[in-house]
Amino acid sequence: MSKVRTLYIVLDGGHGGHDPGALGKKSNEKTNVLNVALALGRLLEKAGHTVIYTRKTDKFLSLSERANIANRNGADIFISLHNNSAASNKATGFETFIFNGTNDAKTKQLQSTLHEEIAKGIGIVDRGKKSANFAVLRETKMPAVLIEYAFINNPSDEKILINEVNKLAQLTANGLIKFAGGKVSTSKPSTSKPSTSKPKPTPSKPSTSKTGKVLHLPKTSSSWRVYPTNKAPTKGNEKGYLNPKKFGGLTYDIIGNPQKDVYTIKTGDFGTVNIYAASSTGAKVTNKTNSNKTQAKGTVHLPASAKTWRTYKLNVQPVAKNSDWSLTPSRYGGLTYTILGRPYPDVVTINTSKGKRNIYVGKGTGAIVN
Ligand SMILES: [Zn+2]
Repeated sequence: MSKVRTLYIVLDGGHGGHDPGALGKKSNEKTNVLNVALALGRLLEKAGHTVIYTRKTDKFLSLSERANIANRNGADIFISLHNNSAASNKATGFETFIFNGTNDAKTKQLQSTLHEEIAKGIGIVDRGKKSANFAVLRETKMPAVLIEYAFINNPSDEKILINEVNKLAQLTANGLIKFAGGKVSTSKPSTSKPSTSKPKPTPSKPSTSKTGKVLHLPKTSSSWRVYPTNKAPTKGNEKGYLNPKKFGGLTYDIIGNPQKDVYTIKTGDFGTVNIYAASSTGAKVTNKTNSNKTQAKGTVHLPASAKTWRTYKLNVQPVAKNSDWSLTPSRYGGLTYTILGRPYPDVVTINTSKGKRNIYVGKGTGAIVN
């Protein structure tokens, strides 16, 4: 039996405030997902986990703010809750996303466990495990999954989103509790049809950026044409449409620049495509910022000259009076740790024999941060 871990879980109900998200006939996305986030949080707390909400009310936060809440708190996992929407009101089903760049094994495991538990009971088609370059997935430094529960613009899917909040929360909680090594109650949340299609895992490859530049599509646009790379990027040749508005803007690594104002990008839904993005369209091309998950890493070395080194639980201010346990670098001829997060200036999160801890590594301490 594997050990049950207590997790710091950030729940992110998408959208909020002036951004309603996708709209259904009877509901809006921001309200539906907040209802699930709050119910889910209660279930997770009951199971002994610590929950941090990006929002508990109808308020707007930028995508980066959401990721920062998780990073700042040194959270173990980040879950973003959304409702899907499509041009056709026949679109149906649920899907989950991880970042389409480099992911560690834990991220894939988290997606699989969550996905399977939701598939067991949600009663609509399983559209598969997917990956995409969503800001909240890209900018979070811990395993992160975005769930699209169902299509709000499909009346029968929307019924689930409105009327089965507790079921959605329970299924999602089951996935998270299982991921943490806990046991999931076997009582079925409610009537459920078995899912008809098997999850199709999308293998996630390392980022393919060759240009070192990224393309930002503004959130003001709800429909942006993309074209196959072997056809002219002109009307009629579309392979599909991106919806920057739905995600508060979209950002992609630029893989190529085959002609002026035309960029090659890799999308979750349409694979590698070309996109026309002259500056007059509102698109922006910028140098890649270091917001990659892999960038968060690094090491900290605590010198052998230090007898003790205070550690702090993640949920307290890292000041001396709050320290309940110290490392002993001198006993080991110095200690070196992988940096998991940087919640405050000069404070890093590391994994110790007592689990994740913050330590102060400011000037004068002798710590070497790489
Ligand atoms: Zn959304």
